[in-house]
Amino acid sequence: MAKRSKKAAKKVVSRKAPMRGTAKRSAGKFVYFFGTGKAEGNRHMKDTLGGKGSGLAEMTNAGLPVPPGFTISTDACNLYYKLGGKVPPAVDAEIALHVKRLEKAAGATLGSTENPLLVSVRSGAKFSMPGMMDTILNLGLNDAAVEGLKRRTSNGRFAYDSYRRFMQMFGSVVLEIPKSAFEHEFEVVKKARGVSLDTELDEAALGEVVEKYKAVVRKHSGKPFPQDPNDQLNMARNAVFRSWHNPRAKEYRRIYDIPDAIGTAVNVQMMVFGNTGDRSGTGVGFTRNPATGAKEFFGEFLINAQGEDVVAGIRTPQPISELARVMPKAYAQLRQITTRLEKHYKDIQDFEFTIQDDRLYMLQTRSGKRTGYAAVIIATDLVKERLVTPKEALLLVDPEALSQLLAPGFDPKEWKSITAATRGLPASPGAACGQVVFTSDEAVKWSDQGKPVILVRRETVPDDIHGMWVSQGVLTATGGMTSHAAVVGRQMGKPSIVGAGELAIDEHGKTFTVKGQTVREGDWVAFDGLTGEVKIAKVSSQPSEILQVMAGKMKTADSDIFGRFNQLLTWADKFRRLGVRANADQPDQAELAYKFGARGIGLCRTEHMFFGEGRIPIVQRMILADNEADRRAALAELLPMQREDFYGVFKAMHGTPVTIRTIDPPLHEFLPKREDLMVEIAIMEATGKSGRSLEEKKTLLARVEQLHEFNPMLGHRGVRLGITYPEITEMQARAIMEAACQLNREGLKVVPEIMIPLVGLVKELRDQKVIVDRVAAEVMKEQKIKIKYLVGTMIEVPRGAVTADEVATEAQFFSFGTNDLTQMTFGFSRDDVGKFLRVYQDKKILDKDPFATLDAEGVGQLVAMGVEKGRKTRADLKVGICGEHGGDPSSVHFFHKVGLDYVSASPYRVPVARLAAAQAALSVKVGD
Ligand code: ADP
Ligand code: MG
Ligand code: MG
Repeated sequence: MAKRSKKAAKKVVSRKAPMRGTAKRSAGKFVYFFGTGKAEGNRHMKDTLGGKGSGLAEMTNAGLPVPPGFTISTDACNLYYKLGGKVPPAVDAEIALHVKRLEKAAGATLGSTENPLLVSVRSGAKFSMPGMMDTILNLGLNDAAVEGLKRRTSNGRFAYDSYRRFMQMFGSVVLEIPKSAFEHEFEVVKKARGVSLDTELDEAALGEVVEKYKAVVRKHSGKPFPQDPNDQLNMARNAVFRSWHNPRAKEYRRIYDIPDAIGTAVNVQMMVFGNTGDRSGTGVGFTRNPATGAKEFFGEFLINAQGEDVVAGIRTPQPISELARVMPKAYAQLRQITTRLEKHYKDIQDFEFTIQDDRLYMLQTRSGKRTGYAAVIIATDLVKERLVTPKEALLLVDPEALSQLLAPGFDPKEWKSITAATRGLPASPGAACGQVVFTSDEAVKWSDQGKPVILVRRETVPDDIHGMWVSQGVLTATGGMTSHAAVVGRQMGKPSIVGAGELAIDEHGKTFTVKGQTVREGDWVAFDGLTGEVKIAKVSSQPSEILQVMAGKMKTADSDIFGRFNQLLTWADKFRRLGVRANADQPDQAELAYKFGARGIGLCRTEHMFFGEGRIPIVQRMILADNEADRRAALAELLPMQREDFYGVFKAMHGTPVTIRTIDPPLHEFLPKREDLMVEIAIMEATGKSGRSLEEKKTLLARVEQLHEFNPMLGHRGVRLGITYPEITEMQARAIMEAACQLNREGLKVVPEIMIPLVGLVKELRDQKVIVDRVAAEVMKEQKIKIKYLVGTMIEVPRGAVTADEVATEAQFFSFGTNDLTQMTFGFSRDDVGKFLRVYQDKKILDKDPFATLDAEGVGQLVAMGVEKGRKTRADLKVGICGEHGGDPSSVHFFHKVGLDYVSASPYRVPVARLAAAQAALSVKVGD
């Protein structure tokens, strides 16, 4: 969901930015320099440079204060993997050359005892993966260089603080020594000095920490801490490459559908220091509020600190507005730069900066991850501010964001009646209610059992990604608005509250206490991610504001978000080529779908109506009939009911096309289960009951046994039912036509589309079409009215797709039933696929669940072939799709490309489909 859709080629605004729109990588080049006002890369080179590298290059070219450095390309990473974990000598040489270039630009030398160059080694893939991969700061320090740094800056405390940071990062990331080993030593020194903050340690104490760290390294790795900066650099680079395949990065890519093959780039950049004292600091921020979308400068910073400190939640950072007070000049410059970046990228920016002795440096910029709610607010605001056109705005919103807006909120009365236990920072909006768990593994376990959970952590770490994913919401005791939990929560659209400092969490004891109240694992907690309030209770929820407006319970004018939602979708409608219909079986669903913007029904499943009140006994009588006359009698009773249903559905759709499918499932689905009947009969016999009711049960059991099928999905269903029991098709065709005639007489022009399921042979369809046409003629004669209707088929049996040219001689329309088509093309039962799908994904046999995202290479080829062959026979053949894939954005892209006329999705997915269809039209041409 989160992977941002392809952005339209945006115009470069800055005059300084060269190479407009170019994104060429040169063969044989693996390293790209940036510094002193010029970079070899630019914003269009994310594939090669990763997001971070391309942003650094772009900012450099725009003349912004960016420390110089170079980016080792993703190609080098992929080569590293291809060669089994080696960097080829040619690339090594290219890197060495760029180290020289960097030394020149920085005026410092790696490893020098006079003026040592220190660098950061930063990971950065094409798609940002917050906290998933590793970065090392202050590389280049060793026992001699740290003294050089001390002399040069006359700041021994700073020099040793940098060294101990470097050793810890290098030790854990490169040498893979547990972080806790270092943290333990750090705590020992802090305790001995009686301080609680790292900033309170002086030079001598930090020197002691360094000595202790050396011992830790020797003990765990068996070797002394590497002193040669070139070795350090090579080792760090390889560790970043390796981090691409660490478990949490892999899990992240799985969740967000990021391909494994793209690799990461490595950025080597001159260090600037936020930890030289009180005139220095570091921070992160957003040009707008990423949780609510509000236009406000947003962020946090720490005085006298280095990069990681802000996000790690070790010290609680200050809101960025404080910076205006303590360093007004740097603050003003930061505002000015980031406003410019937002204009340039035409999107909310998420940036990192460091201030060294009052001088501001930019270290990163990228499009900010935001909640679905914020995405809609920001996109519509940017249009209002004339920063983007509606067309561009459409590309700024992930279609899934719209489904987030439809998620329920708390029942306001109930919510108000409970007092809040505490408050935290509102990191990601939404109502969350569930049972408390304290670890991500437990979260997964509980949610597998179908329980809604709230993950409560002191702070979340990147390893918690799987637990966050399955939770209703995430609640942490520490961390700020830019902490890991906050960033990831927003991106997932997970309600999140961070920094709820009053929570005293005992993760081992699986409890937390707040204001004297103890909450145990399994207890219910509810919180509102928009306000930050936490309540110890189970609270029921109610429909989202947008749904309330649609239901007429709230006035359109009173809902800002509804207006924006509607605006965005209205824009989408202007650009999309695909029609959007809904799968709906009942008038109320159809009405909702129409309100969501569906203009037609792509699939109305008539058998769902059989389950309606009082109907099942009639349906069962129809099934149990052992002769045609009895069957017809039962069908005659069903006829008026079906007619009424169809009348309602047609009417709810205001004359837009409605496709009604004739009966599809195997008949046993309408009968009681064999086992249940056997138990009932046994009980009746054991309790001495006899007579009619027992005999009836026995007859039923006999019929159930007769209808039993070994493989019902491939059994007596779909068109096969209509062929063996033509009277069922007759009744349904009659009900449809009678309803349509009645409406036409009432002045609503409806054109029914009658759809025969599961056709693999043209003769199957012909058989049914003869019946439909005959009945239709009868009805029109009786009703003395002529109306237009279509007869078509679902293409869901592979043979139907392969012989689509023949099928089209009878079919006036096709609708791809991609659920069954996927099932039958793979030979995967869609009800049993869960047993092995995860293993298939883990083993990389399949990337994605083909029932969720259309398998373009396999099933998609059958769709493409079906469209082409069908239209060869019948140029005006209407073609749509009605499987679950109709509401999946990437599948919608595919359907657009192969030239379908419409997609049909479940009512709640209609907005998603409308936006996805527009994005598809804006980024790919049909037939590309
Ligand atoms: P992440 O992707 O996890 O944010 P980064 O590579 O951006 O990792 O770096 C982690 C932290 O270190 C960030 O706060 C960043 O600003 C800081 N940082 C990275 N490189 C430098 C540098 N050359 N000088 C100062 N701080 C740096
Ligand atoms: Mg970063
Ligand atoms: Mg089907």
